Amino acid sequence: MNIPFFSFSGMHSEIRREMLEAFERFYDSNWYILGKEVKAFEEEYAEYSGAGHCIGVANGLDALHIALQTLGVSAGDEVIVPSNTYIATWLAVSYVGAKIVPVEPDPFTYNLDPARLEEAITPNTRVIMPVHLYGQACEMDRIMAIAEKYNIAVVEDNAQAQGAEFRGVKTGTFGAVNGVSFYPGKNLGALGDAGAITTDSEELAEQSRVIRNYGSQKKYYNERIGVNSRLDECQAALLRIKLKYLDEWNARRAEIATHYLRFLNDIEEIQVPTLAEGAGSVWHQFIILSSKRDELMDYLRDQGIGTLIHYPIPPHLQEAYQHLGFKKGDFPIAEKISGSALSLPIYPGLGEEEIQYICRSLRNYFTRAPIGTSVV
Ligand SMILES: *Cc1c(COP(=O)(O)O)cnc(C)c1O
Repeated sequence: MNIPFFSFSGMHSEIRREMLEAFERFYDSNWYILGKEVKAFEEEYAEYSGAGHCIGVANGLDALHIALQTLGVSAGDEVIVPSNTYIATWLAVSYVGAKIVPVEPDPFTYNLDPARLEEAITPNTRVIMPVHLYGQACEMDRIMAIAEKYNIAVVEDNAQAQGAEFRGVKTGTFGAVNGVSFYPGKNLGALGDAGAITTDSEELAEQSRVIRNYGSQKKYYNERIGVNSRLDECQAALLRIKLKYLDEWNARRAEIATHYLRFLNDIEEIQVPTLAEGAGSVWHQFIILSSKRDELMDYLRDQGIGTLIHYPIPPHLQEAYQHLGFKKGDFPIAEKISGSALSLPIYPGLGEEEIQYICRSLRNYFTRAPIGTSVV
C-alpha cells in the first residue's frame, strides 16, 4: 500500500467539471478584482457560518491581522494566544505590535485551556485569540464568559475549523471579528491562497473592507493606512463550488475519525484526541501522541503510510521569536505536544481499506491483536 498523508483527488475528481465551468465563467467575465464572485462567495460563506458579514481577503494570516487592526490593537496592548498553534496566530499579533501572551492548552483537547485564562489577564489585555486547533471548536462558552467579565474582545482563529460547532453554533461567530483561511489544505480550501474575516458587526465589517483595499472605500480616496489583501475573483468562484460540498466532506472526515478512535482506543501507548463537552470537530487533523513518535513515523513510512507533525517546534522556541526571550520548559504542554504529536492521514477520498491498513499497522507496531477484516 502507498497512502499519502494528504490528497485532493477524492474531492477534486468529483467536482472537476463544475470547477472548470466556474473558471470559464470567471475567465470570460472580464472582471478580476472585487467583483460578482467575491460578493457572492462572501454572502454564501456568511450564510453558511451564520455570521452577519464575511469579507474575503488574500489569506488567513491577513484575515487575523486585519481583524486585530479593526479593533485598534497596537503597541502596549496584550493579546492572549495559545502556546501551541501554527505560527500565523502569533504573527498576526506581531504585525500590530502588540505583546504576545501565550497560554497553555488543555493536554487532551489541545485547545486553549479556559482554566488558565484568568491568570494571564492584565489591565493591558485587549484580545483573546482562541484557535480551533485540528478542527475542534474551543470551549467557547467558558472563553466568552471570561472575556465578557473582563471586557476583552475575542478574535477566533478559525483557519482549521470551517463548519465546526460549539453547542450547535458555528465557530467564527463567537468573537467580535474572526479570521478564517482557505489555504488549499484546509477543510475548505481554494486553489491558491485565500482567506476571510467573519463578524456580526456592521462597523467592523466596514473597516475590514476598507483595510483590505488600500484603506479606501471610494477609489483614490484613502481614509486610513490599508493593505492590498483582496480575495481573488478566481478563488472566490472556485470556493463557491467547494463550499457546497464542505458538509459532505466534513462528514467523511468524521467517519474516518470514528474508525480511528474505535481501532486505536485500546493502545495505551498512544493518546487519541478527546473532544471537550459541547465541542464538535471537523477533523482537520487526526493527531495521536506517542513518546516514540519519531520511530513510529519511520515505521509507518516503511509501511507506505504518510504522516506529518503538526507542529514540530512550538512558536515560543522558533528562531523568529528568540527576541521574546522564551526558553525550553516555559510551555511544557505545548512542548510535549510538539515532541510527541503525529498526524495520521484524514481526508475525503481515503478509502476503508486504507483506514484498516493504517490501524492494522499501528496495532501491529504496538503488538495488539489484529482487528477482524469485517470490522470497518
Ligand atoms: C493555516 C493557518 C493560518 C493561516 O492561514 P494562511 O491562509 O496560510 O495565511 C492561521 N492560523 C492557523 C491555526 C492555521 O492553521
